Amino acid sequence: MSNTFDVIVIGAGPAGYVCAIRAAQLGLTVACIERYRNAEGKSALGGTCLNVGCVPSKTLLDSSHKYAEVAEEFAAHGIGVSGLKLDVPAMIERKNGIVKQLTGGIAALFKANGVTPLFGTGKLLAGRKVEFTDHEGEQRILEAEHVVLATGSAPIDIPVASVDGKAIVDSTGALDLDKVPKRLGVIGAGVIGLELGSVWRRLGSEVVVMEAMDVFLAIMDQQIAKEAHKALTKQGLDIRMGCRVTGSEVRRGKVEVTYLAADGGEQKEIFDKLIVCVGRRPHTENLLAPDCGVNLDERGLVFVDDTCATNAPGVWAIGDVVRGPMLAHKGSEEGVMVAERIAGQKTQMNYGIIPNVIYTHPEIAAVGLTEEQVRQSGEPYNVGTFPFAANARALAADAGTGMVKLIAHAETDRVLGCHVMGPAAAELVQQAAIAMEFGTSAEDLGMMVFAHPTFSEALHEAALAVNGHAIHTANRRRKKK
Ligand code: FAD
Ligand code: NAD
Repeated sequence: MSNTFDVIVIGAGPAGYVCAIRAAQLGLTVACIERYRNAEGKSALGGTCLNVGCVPSKTLLDSSHKYAEVAEEFAAHGIGVSGLKLDVPAMIERKNGIVKQLTGGIAALFKANGVTPLFGTGKLLAGRKVEFTDHEGEQRILEAEHVVLATGSAPIDIPVASVDGKAIVDSTGALDLDKVPKRLGVIGAGVIGLELGSVWRRLGSEVVVMEAMDVFLAIMDQQIAKEAHKALTKQGLDIRMGCRVTGSEVRRGKVEVTYLAADGGEQKEIFDKLIVCVGRRPHTENLLAPDCGVNLDERGLVFVDDTCATNAPGVWAIGDVVRGPMLAHKGSEEGVMVAERIAGQKTQMNYGIIPNVIYTHPEIAAVGLTEEQVRQSGEPYNVGTFPFAANARALAADAGTGMVKLIAHAETDRVLGCHVMGPAAAELVQQAAIAMEFGTSAEDLGMMVFAHPTFSEALHEAALAVNGHAIHTANRRRKKK
């Protein structure tokens, strides 16, 4: 087998595998190194996203949502169900099946595109050489014109609640619980805490979420974040803000957590399981030989410019291992950009328009600037909102909680941001993202014809509301035009 390639990608997550496939499509010879082995000890492509991230979490969110619908929502539709049963191992098995199907799909795509998968660990040496160590410990030195680092990230461990994989788990362990914990503690009210906390709450756990910050979902538009806090609290998530966890102890399979509450008082809670989800750190340990010429930034991420070039010629880095939001689609688009730039194209990525979705129920989704960010920029702006309580499709679907919020520049009317909590929020925000990519104004969006009855009509009405023209709600701003 050849040791020389045009491109070597280290890491086969959504950043690395997409980069490898796109580079191969462009006629380059590509190898992609991946070290991950699943619970069965088998090598698998797809990275965090497919194996222990986006895919398994969304699968369990969908399964648990179905259960909660039957248990709590069907009655309102006049549907009575008796003898409802929950089979957690079957739910987990279904999730594992979907993961297997999708990771197998990447292997098939590699084959179809001529990408060489190499199962083992990669380390960047000087001069675009890569030390490859397979799972049996055999080493080879590979060479390439271009090396792409796509090694992703891992959960952050905190000493006050060290993960033991049994009573205290990280996001990976939380995707594989064999039964519903009676009391579940979650440290961190971020994306994972809210999504996985929701899964187990819907299946019957009493869930307490302990969050260090005083502001809920600080990176989201705060009007939407407040709505989300209300909706999730109503579903039974006990979200405690301003909590500083000071210790934890596992005794007879249960976890006792001590924390300082917002008022400074010490509190103790006993849980059957504790999930620690306080953020993720880049995977860079043993990745870079000291003389390979690649720098890290002050947060330990691989330092790159706007095109994902590192400071070592011919070495690129993409995905969670570099700056920017840790999102699968952000990494994938960086993968495409880098592959195309390696092939001589001038592709650039628009970092200002990356949608962000929290898959709770209702979903919380955003693209572009929040109202807080626009206000801080000093630019004049208008806001249009529309509540799902006034959207016919949402009421028909018993999904009238939440709203669409659109922010536009007051002078140019250009859409600056869209924030949604409600049904199909991810899809609605994607529509706004497409509009923003084409520099659409709120008036343009308002002039388009939207099918009735659809959730999308809430986006249409929010766009109309920006300029005081909404039809199905009272306008905050009135314009005589
Ligand atoms: P990864 O997916 O982490 O892949 C990197 C790969 O590199 C890994 O497979 C690793 O084994 C391999 N690797 C590392 N070092 C080496 C080495 N030296 N040699 C060989 N291989 C190596 N994002 C979303 O956009 N939407 C979601 O809904 C979503 N849900 C999530 C849910 C959970 C529970 C978690 C944990 C994350 C979720 N994310 C989601 C985030 C998303 O999974 C990551 O942003 C994404 O996987 C990052 O892609 P990546 O390719 O950069 O890295
Ligand atoms: P996060 O950054 O979203 O949230 C972590 C939370 O933990 C923050 O609110 C933080 O203030 C809090 N925290 C930190 N230290 C703490 C402590 N000691 N005690 C209490 N609270 C503490 O991180 P995450 O939820 O672990 O997710 C990691 C990343 O994975 C996310 O940033 C996101 O990029 C990605 N992800 C995305 C999705 C999605 O797109 N739907 C889903 C899951 C994960």
